[in-house]
Amino acid sequence: MYNIILFGPPGSGKGTQAGLLVDKHNFLHISTGDMFREELSRNTPLGKEARSYMDAGHLVPDEVTIAMLRKRVDQHPDVPGIIFDGFPRTDPQAAELNDLMRERDSQINALILLDVEVDTIVTRILGRGATSGRADDLKEDVIRTRYENFVNYTSPVYDFYDELGLAHRVDGSLTPEEVSREIDAIIGRESKDSL
Ligand code: AMP
Repeated sequence: MYNIILFGPPGSGKGTQAGLLVDKHNFLHISTGDMFREELSRNTPLGKEARSYMDAGHLVPDEVTIAMLRKRVDQHPDVPGIIFDGFPRTDPQAAELNDLMRERDSQINALILLDVEVDTIVTRILGRGATSGRADDLKEDVIRTRYENFVNYTSPVYDFYDELGLAHRVDGSLTPEEVSREIDAIIGRESKDSL
């Protein structure tokens, strides 16, 4: 298996790049944000619990997020690889993902940071908000809170993988095609015979 974490602040292009990787490699794409939005739209107890955190731009508590993620991974024992998009977002989530991979006799092969500065993010997400239907894409203060949560709680996860020699940085302000080429080059170098 070849497993990748697409990492970066909200609006850095993780979902777009995950879609391109799925088309090329048939990987399973797991976006915890998409999973929560699906729960919201079905008005499930999990969706109701997540809504207040999401609307305010805060992280959903680790226990809730980890249980949901673990269930999804367990449902797919035989995929060629997994793209994690928006997970892990805290150190406890990263530790849990480590355990989960070990249980599957697998590992994370690369973390790819899509690096974008905050003002570009605000502009991008406000633009996306015109059509995304996402409450958390509409207000600048909520978008800035999401960015701050990335800086405070999520960015340390980069160091965790950097120490393992698995972290890579791509300039996320490039066009989607350029970012995609850089990601392909990283995967090509890293995967060698894993794919
Ligand atoms: P995203 O679509 O990845 O930007 O996620 C949207 C929202 O879902 C986030 O602002 C959080 O409220 C919640 N969320 C998604 N993934 C996670 C996660 N790994 N940990 C905690 N909250 C998350």
